[in-house]
Amino acid sequence: MKDCLFCKIAEGEEEADIVYEDDQVVAFKDINPKAPTHLLIIPKQHITSLKEAEEEHQQLLGKLMLTAKQIAADKDAAGYKLVMNTGEKGGQMVEHLHLHLLIGKPKQWP
Ligand code: AMP
Ligand code: ZN
Repeated sequence: MKDCLFCKIAEGEEEADIVYEDDQVVAFKDINPKAPTHLLIIPKQHITSLKEAEEEHQQLLGKLMLTAKQIAADKDAAGYKLVMNTGEKGGQMVEHLHLHLLIGKPKQWP
């Protein structure tokens, strides 16, 4: 989608510190980390938020969770937090669905 920051990151038009990528998802470092490791996992497909997700996105939503699990496992994380802010009133600032992966003690809630 035009003028969407995370679509631009997914398309390589905007710089990001990418730690994982496949045909469906991209994971990159949050520019303003709230924990020792703070990554964002996004679908390459533009979905504005979980509110706009439909039945057809079921596989993709599961894929985000399993990508988080795999990245955390690769980092030998004993535990971690996943956060998905949804809608402006839910604290979502970037309107492209994303999953926060926080490893280590968070400094604040993202
Ligand atoms: P949210 O409040 O859930 O929409 O979270 C958006 C997150 O995106 C925040 O934690 C920001 O620090 C992060 N962010 C914003 N711009 C960038 C960027 N260019 N690269 C990486 N992370 C970003
Ligand atoms: Zn987008």
